[in-house]
Amino acid sequence: MSRDQQHIDIAIIGAGIGGLALAIGLTRRGMPVTVYEAATEFSAIGAGIGLGPNALQAIDLLDTRFRRLYESAKTENERPEFEHSVFDALYAEEGLDFGERIGWQRGLVGAEYFTRSSAHRRDVLNIMKSLISEDNVKFGKRVHVIKDMDDKVQITFQDGQTIVVDALIGCDGIKGITRRAVLEDVAPEDVPAKYCNMYIYRGIVPMAEAKEILGKHAGDAKWFMSKDKGLAIYPISKGKEENFVFFVKDTNPWKGPQEAVGCSREEMEADLASFDSRLLRLLDWAKPLRWPIFHHPKTSTYFKGRACLLGDVAHASSPGQAAGAGQGLEDAAILSHLLCLANSADQVKQVFSVYDCIRRPRAQKVVQTSEEAGEMYIWNAPGIEEDMSKIVDNANARLHWIWQHDLQEDVARAETMFLKEVQEMHVQPSPGRRTHVNDSPLGLDRQGAAAEIIAS
Ligand SMILES: Cc1cc2nc3c(=O)[nH]c(=O)nc-3n(C[C@H](O)[C@H](O)[C@H](O)COP(=O)(O)OP(=O)(O)OC[C@H]3O[C@@H](n4cnc5c(N)ncnc54)[C@H](O)[C@@H]3O)c2cc1C
Repeated sequence: MSRDQQHIDIAIIGAGIGGLALAIGLTRRGMPVTVYEAATEFSAIGAGIGLGPNALQAIDLLDTRFRRLYESAKTENERPEFEHSVFDALYAEEGLDFGERIGWQRGLVGAEYFTRSSAHRRDVLNIMKSLISEDNVKFGKRVHVIKDMDDKVQITFQDGQTIVVDALIGCDGIKGITRRAVLEDVAPEDVPAKYCNMYIYRGIVPMAEAKEILGKHAGDAKWFMSKDKGLAIYPISKGKEENFVFFVKDTNPWKGPQEAVGCSREEMEADLASFDSRLLRLLDWAKPLRWPIFHHPKTSTYFKGRACLLGDVAHASSPGQAAGAGQGLEDAAILSHLLCLANSADQVKQVFSVYDCIRRPRAQKVVQTSEEAGEMYIWNAPGIEEDMSKIVDNANARLHWIWQHDLQEDVARAETMFLKEVQEMHVQPSPGRRTHVNDSPLGLDRQGAAAEIIAS
């Protein structure tokens, strides 16, 4: 923060990857911030997370220490021949050999410039929390009511406390309350997450057992595919553990609340009856729970007044491209940069508008293409179906725009747009010029700008 800058009171709601990333980006730039988290401590939910080159670039922009720590915690594929592959496509059903068929032993998806890396979510969160002071995170603070007060936001917590801030950033995940606060008036149909007609069984298995079960396939990222079902595995925890996710297509609507439901081991096995029986031994390490996959395929705006959305609450994505958290990290890199350019709270709406313009088209495209990829991997893509060569070719073509994105250029573009807008604000203040709360204060055609970004 420079001496010319007035203090802006910022509340981040949610201490997941998105909220912590933003807090890291802001505190690294000397901007004070408070994170309010509903849980009483950092989440310890165990699962793996893969980060592509774009996510790593975002981490770099947030704080180079973050990148250094991630590099020391990450796990790469074990065998050098898989160094550059995000996964190796195999058959889930019993075949000639494990995962193989006559004429099919390997289906590498990746790129020369890409190096596969994953980590345990717990390790990523531990790194992130080490980069901010615990004093900046208030636990046990579940947001209950959000009230737009035009130039302030009033937040009431479940414990009865009320605070008023200049800016609220909702990072409260796919079911977050801030989504309703931002979208209810403009696009109420966008508010609830939509079921992807898919549920998963997941778990983490010690690598010694994984090797015993999977043989040569353990230790490297693999996708075992079949009609309407699949299994993704990859190493985490410096190769000491293997993360696995079984995907099951569900033609029915999801009944009841958007949360995991209990099931029996027999039901899991029945779902996966067509699989090579060796793969089912992984179920010993899966909780008997069906986790439904929901997403936000449409989000008409990421902000309203002084409140805005970041991470899954804005653009929760199905895991088909392993790109969801990466998009939250990109959000945080852009938003932290913009917020630090603002000289006063009066400029918060301009910050949010530019952020929405830069981030929403790309993040929503990730949501849409992740669903397409997920369907393709379970042999449901029209014209591709179960043709593994076509699946691998398609996968090899579809990921570059996510991985190779120039985030630094986004930052530069966002800065130019923001400064232009602020300049116009001072030269020609025009109250009442905008008729809609989220009309572009940039004087730009927002849809036009979005189309341009998608095309690039
Ligand atoms: C099976 C699966 C595999 C995935 N694999 C990958 C992968 O390999 N790579 C990748 O990049 N992404 C992956 N993702 C996506 C990734 O996990 C998410 O995008 C990411 O964790 C979302 O982070 P977030 O901070 O936005 O939300 P969350 O992690 O959901 O955090 C939200 C936080 O907000 C808090 N909160 C909620 N409501 C309130 C409230 N009212 N008041 C205060 N606090 C509140 C919650 O307690 C929580 O701590 C995967 C997702 C799934 C389902």
